[in-house]
Amino acid sequence: MQPVENFAPRVLAWFDEHGRKSLPWQENKTPYRVWISEIMLQQTQVTTVIPYYHKFMTSFPTVEALADAEQDDVLAHWSGLGYYARARNMHKAAKMLVDEFDSEFPETVEGVCELPGIGRSTAAAILSISRGVQAAILDGNVKRVLARFHAVPTWPGEKKTENAMWDLADYYMPSERCGDYTQAMMDLGATLCTRSKPQCLICPLQSDCQARVTQDPTQFPIRKPKKAAKPEKSIQLLVLTNQQGQWLLEKRPSTGIWGGLWSLPELAPEESVVLHIEQRFATQVAVVTPLSSFRHTFSHYHLDISPSQIQIADTKLVMEGDKYQWFSQQDAMEQGLPAPVRSILANIN
Ligand code: SF4
Repeated sequence: MQPVENFAPRVLAWFDEHGRKSLPWQENKTPYRVWISEIMLQQTQVTTVIPYYHKFMTSFPTVEALADAEQDDVLAHWSGLGYYARARNMHKAAKMLVDEFDSEFPETVEGVCELPGIGRSTAAAILSISRGVQAAILDGNVKRVLARFHAVPTWPGEKKTENAMWDLADYYMPSERCGDYTQAMMDLGATLCTRSKPQCLICPLQSDCQARVTQDPTQFPIRKPKKAAKPEKSIQLLVLTNQQGQWLLEKRPSTGIWGGLWSLPELAPEESVVLHIEQRFATQVAVVTPLSSFRHTFSHYHLDISPSQIQIADTKLVMEGDKYQWFSQQDAMEQGLPAPVRSILANIN
């Protein structure tokens, strides 16, 4: 993979004409504001992120405000974005910045990488965009552009290939306009060299892009070698409803799936709902209404969910500590809920 000359100037010239310049995090580019946008944008489209970003910035305009917030409140602002470890790490990192770094981001990529949830590419994006530091990124978009431009013949997830791509990314990073270049590479990947429909005819890199001459640029980046199908798991989720119409939510443990979020009591697929509730909460079940089952897919397995709504006869449940809590329906929807739980509750009449 021999680097070519004149790469960054072409990308920057294209950016000046076609790049995105009015995204909310492109105003007042402080490290804090860029950081939040970068974390939100991981695995999530720009259009989805924008309303979340505005709301988050209104509630937590500074790193101190985020550090002071309750985790529940932070998770509630994240509810629907998924990958909740991102929000928990961000909250931890904010506390660390306030307690150990006097609320200032470190100066170097290595320093920023010490914060929870921030890897090399995100650290470089924060520092280059907010402070003009000459630090290259290698996020999914940039990997795609470089893998195509050089027709990289191996899967970029392999360490050796990844290291070679970091070398290319470093080589192409210019010494001036570092923030614009970072933004330009992200935009090029997101809007032109897209996953399924690269627009080579209007790309500033077309003249020497090696994937373009293969007639099928989408074969790059080379796919990950196939693994066995994802495992499948099944659970039942219970919407316990009392006579006031309140719902019972259960706080998840802080680690594992949906860590720290409010969820619904869960039981194994083969268990009897009535017996389970009578034994777990020492109460009588009045009516059980099965709700529509559906599949939720995580990155590493499929989860088949069978929800039921259970009307209970009295509200004096025996509950362990503050793990369970009754919420009015409106309050419940304002908590940090996993997306499938939110959709079950939203569909109850
Ligand atoms: S020429 Fe096509 S494949 Fe190559 S970088 Fe541009 S859009 Fe991507």
